[in-house]
Amino acid sequence: MNVLVINAGSSSLKYQLMNPETGDVSAKGLCERIYIDGRLTHKVGDNKVVKDIPMPSHSEAIQAVLEILVDPEYGVIKSTDEIDAVGHRVLHGGMEFSESCIIDDEVIKAIEKCIPLGPLHNPANLMGIRACQAVMPKTPQVAVFDTAFHMTMPPKAYRYAIPTEYFENDDIRRYGFHGTSHKYIARRAAELYGSKEFKLVNCHLGNGSSLSAVKDGKCQDTSMGLSPLAGVPMGTRSGDIDACVVQFICNKYGMTVDECLNMLNKKSGVLALSETSSDFRDLEAGEAKGDENCVLALQKFFYEVAKYIGAYAAALNGIDMLTFTAGVGENGPDTRAAICEYLGFMGVKIDPEKNNVRGKEALISTPDSKVQVWVIPTNEELMIAQDTAELVSAAK
Ligand code: AMP
Repeated sequence: MNVLVINAGSSSLKYQLMNPETGDVSAKGLCERIYIDGRLTHKVGDNKVVKDIPMPSHSEAIQAVLEILVDPEYGVIKSTDEIDAVGHRVLHGGMEFSESCIIDDEVIKAIEKCIPLGPLHNPANLMGIRACQAVMPKTPQVAVFDTAFHMTMPPKAYRYAIPTEYFENDDIRRYGFHGTSHKYIARRAAELYGSKEFKLVNCHLGNGSSLSAVKDGKCQDTSMGLSPLAGVPMGTRSGDIDACVVQFICNKYGMTVDECLNMLNKKSGVLALSETSSDFRDLEAGEAKGDENCVLALQKFFYEVAKYIGAYAAALNGIDMLTFTAGVGENGPDTRAAICEYLGFMGVKIDPEKNNVRGKEALISTPDSKVQVWVIPTNEELMIAQDTAELVSAAK
């Protein structure tokens, strides 16, 4: 089976053509500068081609992707009929979606209904869906939601302690994100643990970071909230912050709430503390040179991640496994070591040699550690492709 996985942003669109059974990716790429001019970067194995193609909308971007996939020189399939299904990443499923689903008119309406909750991403995701429907009307399309995995959280985790009307009238609650990644890791962790019954904290640490507390494969809590701004400090996001900070800054500097939120989303996090970069490689380079701001940014990040792990270990009454994934989680031995140093009180012990691993699945804890600690590379595209294949096969 060939599944085309689409991740549509406001001016970009990432794609992968993959086999959901083997995880083999036959081609992948990126459309950029949609609505501006348009550029397609297409990769097959180690071969890469970049083409400037006019993309006045997402439709032309999808068209360009389909054309290059069947191109005699750069393509990997003879006809677009060989694409069995399309899986779309959709940011916000609100209260409407607790799992992936085949897209029909009702689903599109429900995704539209979630636009107030995901105002930046859902419209772009919908454009990707509509563009695919226009150019490949007979191919089944599936929506996979970033929020869906977290819908098993109990009310004590997802309700905010604010008046009920905002929940009842406006669906304001914790949703959480990176759900596709957390689900992928929870499934793989269960295979590695050898049982579905176990307690896990997963740390998805990348440019955006979130943690989830998972019991027997079901999410119990997660660090992001109504939006991806909440939780630990990230590349450019502040993470959790007292709402009065927004009031203070808006009043003192004459900013609108939107401007202040833009600052908290795009100019904060480790970028703000380090005054250098949002990239952890740059922060580590700065730390090595003795840059105090980089040291503070890293320390703040380790500290807040460790606090969340401790909180989730308490919420789950102990954990069996701790997993690290995404750019920093997979490639940052120093980050993992610094976080785990806080966790000795709960019997976490990592082996420095085993921890010296990048981008590969590995058990990094010592045999006598009370908690198994693993590095597990995430694969959100594979999870999307698998969900898509499952739903489409079941519907046949
Ligand atoms: P992601 O959002 O999952 O793609 O993660 C991106 C982040 O991973 C980047 O901002 C880098 O800081 C971090 N990263 C990637 N490779 C490395 C590495 N080798 N060492 C430390 N951090 C890395």
